[in-house]
Amino acid sequence: MSQNNTQYTATAYIALGSNLDNPHKQINSACEEIDALPGMSLIQHSSLYQSAPIAQQVQPDYINAVAKIDTALMPAELLNALLIIERKHGRKRTFRNAPRTLDLDILLYNTLQLNSENLTIPHPRMTQRAFVLYPLMEIAPDCCIPGHGKINQLIAACSNQIITRLDFS
Ligand code: ADP
Ligand code: MG
Repeated sequence: MSQNNTQYTATAYIALGSNLDNPHKQINSACEEIDALPGMSLIQHSSLYQSAPIAQQVQPDYINAVAKIDTALMPAELLNALLIIERKHGRKRTFRNAPRTLDLDILLYNTLQLNSENLTIPHPRMTQRAFVLYPLMEIAPDCCIPGHGKINQLIAACSNQIITRLDFS
Protein backbone atom coordinates (compact mmCIF):
# COMPACT_ATOMS: atom_id res chain seq x y z
CA MET A 1 0.00 0.00 0.00
CA SER A 2 1.30 3.41 -0.84
CA GLN A 3 2.37 5.34 2.25
CA ASN A 4 4.01 8.71 2.51
CA ASN A 5 7.15 7.43 4.19
CA THR A 6 7.62 4.34 1.97
CA GLN A 7 11.03 4.26 0.28
CA TYR A 8 10.48 2.40 -2.97
CA THR A 9 13.63 0.79 -4.24
CA ALA A 10 12.44 -0.81 -7.43
CA THR A 11 9.99 -0.87 -10.28
CA ALA A 12 8.87 -4.38 -11.13
CA TYR A 13 6.50 -5.99 -13.61
CA ILE A 14 4.28 -8.89 -12.56
CA ALA A 15 2.48 -11.29 -14.90
CA LEU A 16 -0.96 -12.42 -13.74
CA GLY A 17 -2.72 -15.48 -15.18
CA SER A 18 -5.80 -17.54 -14.34
CA ASN A 19 -8.01 -20.12 -16.02
CA LEU A 20 -10.14 -21.42 -13.12
CA ASP A 21 -12.94 -20.11 -10.86
CA ASN A 22 -13.86 -16.85 -12.57
CA PRO A 23 -10.48 -15.78 -13.99
CA HIS A 24 -11.47 -12.12 -14.50
CA LYS A 25 -12.35 -11.81 -10.85
CA GLN A 26 -9.16 -13.61 -9.80
CA ILE A 27 -7.00 -11.15 -11.75
CA ASN A 28 -8.88 -8.04 -10.63
CA SER A 29 -8.81 -8.98 -6.96
CA ALA A 30 -5.14 -10.01 -7.18
CA CYS A 31 -4.32 -6.49 -8.48
CA GLU A 32 -6.09 -5.00 -5.45
CA GLU A 33 -4.28 -7.35 -3.08
CA ILE A 34 -0.88 -6.55 -4.63
CA ASP A 35 -1.56 -2.81 -4.25
CA ALA A 36 -2.58 -3.35 -0.62
CA LEU A 37 0.67 -5.06 0.38
CA PRO A 38 2.95 -3.06 2.69
CA GLY A 39 5.74 -1.40 0.73
CA MET A 40 3.97 -1.85 -2.57
CA SER A 41 2.07 0.37 -4.94
CA LEU A 42 0.42 -0.79 -8.15
CA ILE A 43 1.19 1.92 -10.71
CA GLN A 44 -0.59 0.56 -13.79
CA HIS A 45 -2.03 -2.62 -15.20
CA SER A 46 -2.63 -3.74 -18.75
CA SER A 47 -5.94 -4.71 -20.30
CA LEU A 48 -7.03 -8.29 -19.82
CA TYR A 49 -6.03 -10.71 -22.59
CA GLN A 50 -7.36 -14.16 -23.45
CA SER A 51 -4.98 -16.89 -24.60
CA ALA A 52 -5.09 -20.61 -25.34
CA PRO A 53 -3.37 -22.86 -22.78
CA ILE A 54 0.15 -23.98 -23.73
CA ALA A 55 -0.39 -27.38 -22.03
CA GLN A 56 -1.44 -30.39 -24.10
CA GLN A 57 -4.37 -31.27 -21.81
CA VAL A 58 -7.81 -29.85 -22.52
CA GLN A 59 -8.33 -26.93 -20.14
CA PRO A 60 -10.03 -23.53 -20.24
CA ASP A 61 -8.47 -20.51 -21.94
CA TYR A 62 -6.40 -18.21 -19.77
CA ILE A 63 -7.00 -14.62 -18.80
CA ASN A 64 -3.70 -12.73 -18.56
CA ALA A 65 -2.51 -9.27 -17.59
CA VAL A 66 0.68 -7.51 -16.57
CA ALA A 67 0.98 -5.03 -13.68
CA LYS A 68 3.65 -2.43 -13.03
CA ILE A 69 4.49 -1.92 -9.36
CA ASP A 70 6.79 0.18 -7.25
CA THR A 71 8.08 -1.85 -4.36
CA ALA A 72 10.26 -1.58 -1.28
CA LEU A 73 10.56 -5.37 -1.16
CA MET A 74 13.70 -7.19 -2.22
CA PRO A 75 13.17 -9.78 -5.01
CA ALA A 76 12.92 -12.82 -2.68
CA GLU A 77 10.51 -10.96 -0.40
CA LEU A 78 8.43 -9.98 -3.39
CA LEU A 79 8.24 -13.59 -4.58
CA ASN A 80 7.15 -14.73 -1.10
CA ALA A 81 4.45 -12.06 -0.96
CA LEU A 82 3.13 -13.13 -4.38
CA LEU A 83 3.15 -16.83 -3.42
CA ILE A 84 1.04 -15.96 -0.36
CA ILE A 85 -1.52 -14.22 -2.59
CA GLU A 86 -1.54 -17.24 -4.96
CA ARG A 87 -2.26 -19.55 -2.00
CA LYS A 88 -5.03 -17.25 -0.77
CA HIS A 89 -6.63 -17.73 -4.19
CA GLY A 90 -6.57 -21.51 -3.73
CA ARG A 91 -3.61 -22.15 -6.05
CA LYS A 92 -2.65 -25.83 -6.11
CA ARG A 93 0.52 -27.13 -7.76
CA THR A 94 -0.25 -30.50 -9.32
CA PHE A 95 1.62 -30.92 -12.60
CA ARG A 96 3.54 -28.65 -14.96
CA ASN A 97 1.28 -26.19 -16.78
CA ALA A 98 -1.77 -27.41 -14.82
CA PRO A 99 -4.86 -25.19 -14.80
CA ARG A 100 -4.66 -22.62 -12.02
CA THR A 101 -6.79 -20.14 -10.09
CA LEU A 102 -3.91 -17.64 -10.02
CA ASP A 103 -0.33 -17.50 -11.25
CA LEU A 104 1.82 -14.51 -10.30
CA ASP A 105 5.26 -14.33 -11.90
CA ILE A 106 7.94 -11.67 -11.49
CA LEU A 107 8.92 -10.65 -15.01
CA LEU A 108 11.32 -7.77 -14.37
CA TYR A 109 12.81 -6.05 -11.33
CA ASN A 110 14.56 -2.85 -12.39
CA THR A 111 17.32 -4.07 -14.72
CA LEU A 112 18.25 -6.95 -12.40
CA GLN A 113 19.49 -10.27 -13.75
CA LEU A 114 19.21 -12.95 -11.08
CA ASN A 115 19.51 -16.72 -11.18
CA SER A 116 18.96 -18.32 -7.78
CA GLU A 117 17.46 -21.66 -6.83
CA ASN A 118 13.93 -20.29 -6.37
CA LEU A 119 13.93 -17.16 -8.47
CA THR A 120 15.08 -16.25 -11.95
CA ILE A 121 14.72 -12.67 -13.22
CA PRO A 122 13.89 -11.83 -15.95
CA HIS A 123 11.35 -14.67 -15.84
CA PRO A 124 13.01 -17.46 -17.87
CA ARG A 125 10.13 -18.11 -20.30
CA MET A 126 8.75 -14.61 -20.69
CA THR A 127 10.45 -13.91 -24.02
CA GLN A 128 8.70 -16.85 -25.73
CA ARG A 129 5.17 -16.07 -24.52
CA ALA A 130 2.79 -13.78 -26.36
CA PHE A 131 0.46 -13.74 -23.33
CA VAL A 132 3.23 -12.01 -21.37
CA LEU A 133 4.79 -9.84 -24.08
CA TYR A 134 1.57 -8.30 -25.48
CA PRO A 135 0.25 -7.01 -22.13
CA LEU A 136 3.77 -5.89 -21.16
CA MET A 137 4.15 -4.04 -24.45
CA GLU A 138 0.84 -2.26 -23.80
CA ILE A 139 2.12 -0.65 -20.58
CA ALA A 140 5.90 -0.58 -21.30
CA PRO A 141 6.36 -0.20 -25.06
CA ASP A 142 10.01 0.86 -24.76
CA CYS A 143 10.88 -1.90 -22.34
CA CYS A 144 14.18 -3.72 -22.64
CA ILE A 145 14.45 -7.22 -21.21
CA PRO A 146 17.92 -7.58 -19.68
CA GLY A 147 19.94 -10.18 -21.56
CA HIS A 148 17.33 -10.46 -24.35
CA GLY A 149 16.73 -7.08 -25.94
CA LYS A 150 13.88 -4.78 -26.90
CA ILE A 151 10.33 -5.95 -26.47
CA ASN A 152 9.21 -4.98 -29.97
CA GLN A 153 11.83 -7.28 -31.48
CA LEU A 154 10.99 -10.17 -29.13
CA ILE A 155 7.27 -9.85 -29.77
CA ALA A 156 7.75 -10.35 -33.49
CA ALA A 157 8.92 -13.92 -32.84
CA CYS A 158 5.64 -14.68 -30.98
CA SER A 159 3.28 -13.31 -33.61
CA ASN A 160 2.04 -16.83 -34.50
CA GLN A 161 0.56 -17.29 -30.99
CA ILE A 162 -3.13 -16.43 -30.76
CA ILE A 163 -3.99 -13.88 -28.10
CA THR A 164 -7.03 -11.60 -27.85
CA ARG A 165 -7.19 -8.29 -26.05
CA LEU A 166 -10.52 -8.05 -24.24
CA ASP A 167 -12.35 -4.75 -24.72
CA PHE A 168 -14.18 -4.64 -21.43
CA SER A 169 -11.15 -4.78 -19.15
P1 ADP B 1 5.01 -21.51 -13.68
O1 ADP B 1 4.66 -20.10 -13.31
O2 ADP B 1 6.30 -21.62 -14.49
O3 ADP B 1 3.88 -22.26 -14.30
P2 ADP B 1 4.87 -22.06 -10.85
O4 ADP B 1 3.95 -20.87 -10.74
O5 ADP B 1 4.38 -23.36 -10.28
O6 ADP B 1 5.34 -22.30 -12.33
O7 ADP B 1 6.22 -21.63 -10.11
C1 ADP B 1 7.14 -22.54 -9.70
C2 ADP B 1 8.31 -21.83 -9.04
O8 ADP B 1 8.97 -21.01 -9.97
C3 ADP B 1 7.98 -20.87 -7.91
O9 ADP B 1 7.73 -21.52 -6.68
C4 ADP B 1 9.25 -20.02 -7.86
O10 ADP B 1 10.14 -20.46 -6.84
C5 ADP B 1 9.89 -20.27 -9.21
N1 ADP B 1 10.25 -19.05 -9.93
C6 ADP B 1 11.47 -18.86 -10.51
N2 ADP B 1 11.53 -17.65 -11.09
C7 ADP B 1 10.32 -17.05 -10.88
C8 ADP B 1 9.80 -15.77 -11.22
N3 ADP B 1 10.51 -14.88 -11.93
N4 ADP B 1 8.54 -15.49 -10.83
C9 ADP B 1 7.81 -16.39 -10.14
N5 ADP B 1 8.24 -17.62 -9.77
C10 ADP B 1 9.49 -17.94 -10.14
MG1 MG C 1 4.28 -18.98 -11.57
